[in-house]
Amino acid sequence: MHEIRIAKDLSEIVLGVASREKLSRVTKVNISFGQMIQIVPDIFDFAFRETVRDTIATDAAIDIEILPVRMKCKDCKEEFNIDNNAFSCTRCGSSDLDIIQGKELFIKSIEGE
Ligand SMILES: [Zn+2]
Repeated sequence: MHEIRIAKDLSEIVLGVASREKLSRVTKVNISFGQMIQIVPDIFDFAFRETVRDTIATDAAIDIEILPVRMKCKDCKEEFNIDNNAFSCTRCGSSDLDIIQGKELFIKSIEGE
């Protein structure tokens, strides 16, 4: 359950930003995960909530966006999304691919007052 470790890391960032921005409370946190991170949103939500309990982010809504895995073929330069673990180019069939999206893990924005 790496959600717990990730929730801890991200909550530290959220609270750090909130204190720098002098927020009195955090109302919403928008987070993006690449599909390869394999986060379970419900578990993450729970873990995050536990981590920020009794802080200024305790009531913050959490919005999780999952970014699909996207590849670029090194042979024909085609870009495509992976949706069924078929790791070959949809155009030429090459398996010489670069991952251009899917490993992200970041806070898109923090809302507060
Ligand atoms: Zn190709």
